[in-house]
Amino acid sequence: MVNKISILGSTGSIGTQTLEVVREYPQIKVAAITANSNIKLLEAQAREFSPELVCVMDEKKANELRIKLSDTRVKVLGGRESLIAAATIPGADTVVTAVVGISGLRPTIEAIRAGKNIALANKETLVTGGHIVTRLAKEYGVKLLPVDSEHSAIFQSLAGRNKEIKRIILTASGGAFVGKKRADLIDITPEKALKNPNWDMGAKVTIDSSTLVNKGLEVIEAKWLFGVEVDRIKVVVHRQSVLHSAVEFVDNAVIAQLGAPDMRLPIQYALTYPDRLPMRDNELDLIQYGSLTFEEPDTDTFYALELAKHAGREGGLLPTIFNSADEVAVEKFMKGKLSYLGITDFIAEEMNKFKNVPNPTVDEILSADAEIRTHI
Ligand code: NDP
Ligand code: MG
Repeated sequence: MVNKISILGSTGSIGTQTLEVVREYPQIKVAAITANSNIKLLEAQAREFSPELVCVMDEKKANELRIKLSDTRVKVLGGRESLIAAATIPGADTVVTAVVGISGLRPTIEAIRAGKNIALANKETLVTGGHIVTRLAKEYGVKLLPVDSEHSAIFQSLAGRNKEIKRIILTASGGAFVGKKRADLIDITPEKALKNPNWDMGAKVTIDSSTLVNKGLEVIEAKWLFGVEVDRIKVVVHRQSVLHSAVEFVDNAVIAQLGAPDMRLPIQYALTYPDRLPMRDNELDLIQYGSLTFEEPDTDTFYALELAKHAGREGGLLPTIFNSADEVAVEKFMKGKLSYLGITDFIAEEMNKFKNVPNPTVDEILSADAEIRTHI
């Protein structure tokens, strides 16, 4: 079990739920918390959890927060580099990576180099730099503990028997538009896309869930976490989000983890592994569900999943292109500057025109990301 954590992105959906777990188990101490710009919440968190360090990416907001917290002993840092300070803070044994997007890559790498275990929510880190992050984790002897619910389920079902995997069964809620066809999706607004049937998540992952980009990112994430090729990862639409994913072993036994759709469980498990600690509410009531359903994903309509699998098979820079094009496209969609179907179409165009580079360095990954941001 962890003693002290640093939470990168403490004001987001995963970040706030991580702090809920800490509230239940106050023996887990908080060394650092960070946000992009939400200093109101960050101030409240700093007062409640007394971290040593609070970081805000927005420098101006960091200055404002420094004044607000001047009656406390909390140190406030501002700017992008401060995320690295939070990721490497002495005394923390585990870093919860709950920032959104490729911004998680460099701090995660630095955290590993500083010997921290990683409770990994930020899947974009493994999608873009999986070859680097998994190698470094081995080299520094640190654990990568999945927070993503599907990957936590796989991790729990596997119980270390990686060599006996036949297939991974990765479940997907299907997102807000499951069952719809392209013609139904022409006039989709951000407001409609921001409604996930089962999960209450940050904006980007909710949109990604509706396009199946999220499931595509998770296929690549699973490839790196469990060392399984893309073609042995089967995506199954399971609308109830109760069976969080499964492993099919060589003897055809399928072992799954089930639970109510509640991110606090995978977050807590990543912090208390290998122990299981009581959770006081939100038990799974199977009778209430009555039946669980499983369907093939509709990859004609939601073809981003196929694009991601292609990127995952090819490797190199292509998964970064997939991810960064999506980050840019989702931002544009949210601002009303790109249509909903345009998100996946933009990713496909970017992947088509980009020349792949095998085994890219962190700098190559970040410059490919920067280049895509100039394309739209
Ligand atoms: P949110 O958007 O809710 O939160 C993101 C957090 O990161 C906030 O603290 C935000 O600060 C901060 N942030 C945003 N942009 C930047 C940036 N450019 N640099 C540094 N910090 C930034 O996201 P979620 O919690 O939903 O998701 C976090 C990660 O976890 C994602 O990678 C997502 O895919 C993954 N994940 C999320 C799940 C969920 O249930 N939410 C489930 C499984 C995985 P501010 O509040 O100031 O904007
Ligand atoms: Mg997930």
